[in-house]
Amino acid sequence: MSEDLAYRFPKSFLWGTATAAHQVEGGNSNNDWWEWEQQPGKIKNGDRSGDACEHFTRYPQDFEMLAHMGHNAHRLSIEWSRVFPERGVVDAAAVAHYRDVLETLDRNGMTPLVTLHHFTNPLWLTRGGGWENEAAIEDFRQFAELCATEYGDLVQTWATFNEPNVYAYHSYVLGLWPPERRDFGLAVKVMRNMIRAHAVAYRELKAGPHGASAMVGIAQHMRIFEAWRHWLPLDRVAAALPDAGFNHWILGACTDGRTGPPLGFPQRISEAAGTLDWIGLNYYSRDMVAFDPTAARKLFLRTFARPGSRISDFAMEIYPQGLHDLLVSLTQRYGKPVHITENGVADAADALRPQALVSHLAETARAIGDGVDLRGYFHWSSMDNFEWAEGFSMRFGLVEVDFETQKRTPRPSALLYSRLIRENGLLWSDLRKYYPPALDYFEASSEVRRSSPA
Ligand code: BGC
Repeated sequence: MSEDLAYRFPKSFLWGTATAAHQVEGGNSNNDWWEWEQQPGKIKNGDRSGDACEHFTRYPQDFEMLAHMGHNAHRLSIEWSRVFPERGVVDAAAVAHYRDVLETLDRNGMTPLVTLHHFTNPLWLTRGGGWENEAAIEDFRQFAELCATEYGDLVQTWATFNEPNVYAYHSYVLGLWPPERRDFGLAVKVMRNMIRAHAVAYRELKAGPHGASAMVGIAQHMRIFEAWRHWLPLDRVAAALPDAGFNHWILGACTDGRTGPPLGFPQRISEAAGTLDWIGLNYYSRDMVAFDPTAARKLFLRTFARPGSRISDFAMEIYPQGLHDLLVSLTQRYGKPVHITENGVADAADALRPQALVSHLAETARAIGDGVDLRGYFHWSSMDNFEWAEGFSMRFGLVEVDFETQKRTPRPSALLYSRLIRENGLLWSDLRKYYPPALDYFEASSEVRRSSPA
């Protein structure tokens, strides 16, 4: 243990990074994103996922690199369109591929956290109406059943969906992602179908041969929504709406089996009640929210980063305290174990990431002190990758990727993260350098090792 240790995380804490198949693997030509990317003007700078990070073949070296940095866990997704190239048709080679991926993680001492759906859909699914069509629920059940059978011995922690709220909002409200619809009613329908699909997948994953120990949840994107003009009731309502509709609507449905305001009339999805063993929190930022009568497309809400705040290359405010606040509110509302399934910053220069990393982990520690049952932290992302409609322009990696040569170069923050992991804690020197506002807390907290408080 370092003399410099200010705080120690729980003993079996999982430390790793998060990825998604389409963003890193390359060659995912059988899904809706690939097809969409081929159309001019869809992706920034005309980028296409193409070979992405070639992680489909480079995973052994990539995992070795992460293990070498001390990571003991890793979040990845299984590409549905590879495993089921056609409706009801299983590709044995693809199934074997992901088994090897998981065994390779295991050999490297890394615990997997596996997501089934991370934004991409097989082409055969979208041609049949995608998530607008409730037939997708049965298709997804089959996918979950296969994963439970084939991988249940290697995987304990499953996320059925990644950010169904973001998927519905980008693809069906803003129309910025495939299938580019702008129909609020459809967005709600898609989310309801995804909640029902989550419920059937939950049961499949629990019913598999190793289901007794399976922990099934959802990775939910949550943001802090803060009224821009606190004194203005319209802004306060404008901020409360996305908190209810974006942050909590899906989690609520998977807890008590009910949906309702602010996204429609009360309805029951009884099969979804009690289908969260854990909750995944994807946290990036805070939005200021103002009521805007001219912003019909955006549901009369104007959201923006707080002027004067530290913002990432993606124009998002870096607001570490929000992570603490959301973790605590998740615990108060749902009382479930939590993983931070994503947290990171688009920062090609790696100028903000070290500070962001330390400050978010300090806020994480504070949340644990406030009673949050936090099991792991998965930084987004291990390496630069295909950032959806932003193409390769947004650099989220701890490790820089040269997409011409596929060379991986760890950024300074990768080394910082590695040091924190090895200590399983926070150092006074890092807190002093990157997040002095937290010093008082750690000096006063009973969790603090008073080895070097000066
Ligand atoms: C998504 C990732 C994405 C990240 C950074 C999350 O909303 O799950 O796929 O790359 O944000 O924008």
